[in-house]
Amino acid sequence: MTLRLTWLGVANWLFEAGDTQILYNAYFSRIPQEEFYGGPIEFDHARAPRVPDKETVADVVAAVSGERGIGYVFTGHSHFDHTFDVAAVAELTGARVVGSRSTKYQALAQGIPAGQCTEVSGGEHLVLADGLEVWVVRWDHGLADVAPEISEPRELAAVPVPDPETGGLYAGALDAFPNGGGSRGYLFSWHTGETRLTWFVIDASAVGDPQRPVVVDGVDHGRPFDNLRDAMADAGIERVDLWIGPGMGLPDAEESVAGAMPLLRPRVFIPHHFDSIFAPFHDGIGPDSEFSSPAIEDTAARAGASLHVPQRYLDGWQLTGGGLAPVDTTGLRRRLGLP
Ligand SMILES: [Zn+2]
Repeated sequence: MTLRLTWLGVANWLFEAGDTQILYNAYFSRIPQEEFYGGPIEFDHARAPRVPDKETVADVVAAVSGERGIGYVFTGHSHFDHTFDVAAVAELTGARVVGSRSTKYQALAQGIPAGQCTEVSGGEHLVLADGLEVWVVRWDHGLADVAPEISEPRELAAVPVPDPETGGLYAGALDAFPNGGGSRGYLFSWHTGETRLTWFVIDASAVGDPQRPVVVDGVDHGRPFDNLRDAMADAGIERVDLWIGPGMGLPDAEESVAGAMPLLRPRVFIPHHFDSIFAPFHDGIGPDSEFSSPAIEDTAARAGASLHVPQRYLDGWQLTGGGLAPVDTTGLRRRLGLP
């Protein structure tokens, strides 16, 4: 029993559990930084509507997904650097879209039928295939100190209207791509017979204040760490085999990792989302974006979790009961023309 996982840059992952392929987030298009303006980190508004770069999306999907095809696209939150290409992938593959109401509205705006979308707000338990299940954990976006308007839980109130000429959407956080009411973590469990693998994945978003509940439009969605405890209790586990979590927005991410590590007690920790969200996909991580955090290394070491840091786009691993081992993905990288 082997879970295959491949990092596709930023917070994008492909999970392959038996015959089921799950894409986590979809952002391959890359929108240049200068197209955004407003707010403390110039993230609020886009200057012009954009459509997904369908050629790059199709290249990536064809290279990584093989013949089985992607069955699900899960989304952690709904900012453009997580969901901009979700509709393009869903259209290409027929994959079911799972995420916030905002993620669903973004997909509907781009022609994906409502029946292909599963809106989740936290606490749900979904069965994806025989023995393959997921618990949805409502989480915070974090980074309130950096930029309140990207951190505050915010959902789209209506399906955004595409630009009549281009069909594009404005990708800013106060345009068509708000965070989706904080974010959602996913606790996956896959078992065949006696063997079970579990993994938890959240976007790089830090937990601002773990005692603060996620409240959207007057509805209280609970405190992230409480939600996580509930999901683990429902799943009947006291630790996970793998946690993929915060790698950007240091030192918030470091605090967040330190806070959740004792709850998850992962055997393996992989940080992600530390690379540029603006540089072209085909450039890979780029020279100035390598992950570096002595604090996270220390937290992982003290928790007895082995730390694996992605070095290049398309880095792949296999997870078994015995732990995590790298997989040679040179062929994939070559096929996509990556460094
Ligand atoms: Zn992000």
